[in-house]
Amino acid sequence: MHKLTVYTFIVIVLIGTSACATPQEATQIPSLPTEVTEEDTIQPVESADIIFYNGQIITIEASNPSVEALAVKGNTILALGSEEEILALQDQHTQLIDLQGAALLPGFIDGHTHILAFPDRMGRSLAEAQETAIRYGFTTVNEMWSNQDYLDSLFQAEQEGNLRMRVNVFACYNIGMLDDNNQKIIMKTWYPENQPILDPEKHLRIPGIKIFVDGAMTAGRGCWALSEPYMPDSPILDSGICGSEYGDLYWSQEELNQVVQEAQNAGYRVAFHAMGDQAIETALDAIEFALNGEPNELHRHQIQHNSLARPDQLPRYETLNVLASVRGYGNFSLPEVSELHFGPDRDPWYANRYALANMDIHAYLETDFGWTVDPDDRFVQRTLDPIVHLFGLVTHKYVNEDGSICDPVSWTAAHAISVERALEMMTIEPAYAVSMEDYIGSLKPGKYADLIILSDNPLSIDPDIIKDLKVWMTMIAGKVEYCDNGKDMYCPNVNGGEINIAPSLEEPIQKTQIMFNCDNEENLPMNLKTNYHIQTYVRWGAKTEEQVNDFIESADCVILVDNKKVDSYISHSTVNPVPGKDMFFVHSSCDVGKLESGTHKILTRFVFDKRIYDGYDRYGPGTDNPTYEGTCTVTIEYLTY
Ligand SMILES: [Zn+2]
Repeated sequence: MHKLTVYTFIVIVLIGTSACATPQEATQIPSLPTEVTEEDTIQPVESADIIFYNGQIITIEASNPSVEALAVKGNTILALGSEEEILALQDQHTQLIDLQGAALLPGFIDGHTHILAFPDRMGRSLAEAQETAIRYGFTTVNEMWSNQDYLDSLFQAEQEGNLRMRVNVFACYNIGMLDDNNQKIIMKTWYPENQPILDPEKHLRIPGIKIFVDGAMTAGRGCWALSEPYMPDSPILDSGICGSEYGDLYWSQEELNQVVQEAQNAGYRVAFHAMGDQAIETALDAIEFALNGEPNELHRHQIQHNSLARPDQLPRYETLNVLASVRGYGNFSLPEVSELHFGPDRDPWYANRYALANMDIHAYLETDFGWTVDPDDRFVQRTLDPIVHLFGLVTHKYVNEDGSICDPVSWTAAHAISVERALEMMTIEPAYAVSMEDYIGSLKPGKYADLIILSDNPLSIDPDIIKDLKVWMTMIAGKVEYCDNGKDMYCPNVNGGEINIAPSLEEPIQKTQIMFNCDNEENLPMNLKTNYHIQTYVRWGAKTEEQVNDFIESADCVILVDNKKVDSYISHSTVNPVPGKDMFFVHSSCDVGKLESGTHKILTRFVFDKRIYDGYDRYGPGTDNPTYEGTCTVTIEYLTY
């Protein structure tokens, strides 16, 4: 028997093996003795499906800000640690992703957006809107506008398995519009008829309601509500948009207090649209009334935009522990805008929206993306691009159309924040805003494997070139949802099938069947991307024939293998669910979704990469016998209809 060395600091998390398993608190297993026998070591160690290593892994966890490697099992993070610790968690079907110095982070979370539930969406389908967000590295969005129609479409997408990302909807209590008599329009979407949806395992949640407290300087919506009148010669007054020289406050204090109190009692977080200082005051007062001395930690009421916050209001955010959304990138550094409307000496008020980011409160990124600009336009107001928002939060610089960079004016530059803080505002803080901080928003054992790979480490590069970072991969719950062109080496292909494809809700769901046999010796340089479900199916043991048929019926892509000519590696991970057939997981990839409808014969080649096991033998040098080395050529019949 071998004498084996194991690493003493391995933190193992035992997680459920069902596809719907909810992350659990990390269970720390005490350090193992340094010399143990094989029987001692193999039993308790759960092997990883995927291991990322040789990169810069940013955890957003203060106690453990960066690690060398991360392991994923199913839909959750299995463990983080040194390369030695984590690579010890592999077995023969673990995929090793060599990050080659790239950065791995928790997926971005947009704390305030309108990308999914917005009228028109520039003609984009819900599926296309999701694809756009995922391409930018968003794994979760907090959707701040919704009527019943949009909620219905989101529920339908969830039911059909087409909600690829996590969506937290704040249902509109009133809409941000005034009627012909300058009165607010109450909508009461979802609430108070229904309970909040807070289940962490659901992709569609409704954790809160949205209340518009004032206008937005747009026709039909009225103006920001101010405690002192607009400047008499402000063009906004001439425009007829404002209901009064003080703007448009939608609520009396008593009325708003009552609504917030009731929503809080029903278990809802309240997000307030509040732009002018009087709207902020009214929202703060309503929060204070509803909390009635209880900590906001319990209720998580939050104020959006905070566009003109008075200096005396900032301490109230801290006292009440109110959450605040903060725009990342935007050309708010034009003094003439503030002075024109609000008068001299208002610049600090105008800049206080950024001061919130640096205070001891929960502040999170708002893109406020609402299809007013093209999602591919990067350096614009309300840009979707989180990389541009990160650049904005950290530098407060502005990029002109010709690509030249403007330095910020001093009163916004003073509120530039660290990259660490900005990343928190794009990950753990918006997770906190929807009470998901125990499940997403940082890299920690037991949390969902919502991960992105960036081309470089934003913590170590010159802040001016943060804007040039690229998102190379987006993973949600252990499944790759986006892989940048030419970056396949960073994308675990266990999950493929839908990579780079925007499935349209209007089109029928593609179903595929792929038959394998191993008697064709031709090799073509085409890979086969298998469907995520195949892997999970195999991983979680043999099933009855009925279960297999159900699975085949529901899966987008199914691989059935003739039970012959499989080498030892394949048989290692086979189960026997169908008489005479094996289902198995293929360490390769094929872009089946890009094929036209019809029948295709695809030749592919299995290449079992010995490299990844060399030097990383789990139980000591030479203990992993690479019997899987070699090639096996198969013919695939591919049908889509
Ligand atoms: Zn908004």
